[in-house]
Amino acid sequence: MTTETASSRPESTAARPLRRAAFAIALPLLLLLDAAPAGADEPLPVVASFSILGDLTAAVGGDRVAVTTLVGPGGDVHVYAPTPADARRLGEARVFIANGLGFEGWMARLTEAAGFDGHVIMAAEGIEPRLTDAGDTDPHAWQDPANGARYIENIRDGLIAADPTGADGYHERAARSLAALAALSDRMRDTLSAIPPERRKVVTSHDAFGYFGAAFGTGRVPV
Ligand SMILES: [Zn+2]
Repeated sequence: MTTETASSRPESTAARPLRRAAFAIALPLLLLLDAAPAGADEPLPVVASFSILGDLTAAVGGDRVAVTTLVGPGGDVHVYAPTPADARRLGEARVFIANGLGFEGWMARLTEAAGFDGHVIMAAEGIEPRLTDAGDTDPHAWQDPANGARYIENIRDGLIAADPTGADGYHERAARSLAALAALSDRMRDTLSAIPPERRKVVTSHDAFGYFGAAFGTGRVPV
């Protein structure tokens, strides 16, 4: 920076404190300028408990979020056991999206192990829970598209709370997802209406279709 040889001239000696002051101000500003775009471009790290929530979050979050899913497609949330790698991933996240209704019995243990202190979004919040045949709270609420819409709205509102700058985009993408879900629901109703009501049955080994049955008039055949 300022060299000692420059001080041989009287005017530069006088200018030196000014230059120092200017540098002292400019350096933090330069650091800020350097940091700001990186911070703004960095997608929000989000962890979703299972793949359906991960898919909904990716649809609503778009480029503003980087979604990691703990239990992938085909995995079983009921018997899932979090790994140290999962705790590490959650520790680095700013948002954790879970279903709620008792689906993630391991959730409190994991958030504690991860030291997670970000935003928690319970996707099923506000839904009227049904009971399973065994009399427990049925967590599979997303099987009713009306509840699915609620999931999208809860995810949208939670992402906006965590990342208010992206509000417009979250609203836009959520509106598109809600329209797509409504269209899908209409198509399913049309398709299922071709089957006589008394023959409209879901054959399943898992009591997960109560909400689906309420929405589409299907009975269940447990196997
Ligand atoms: Zn299940």
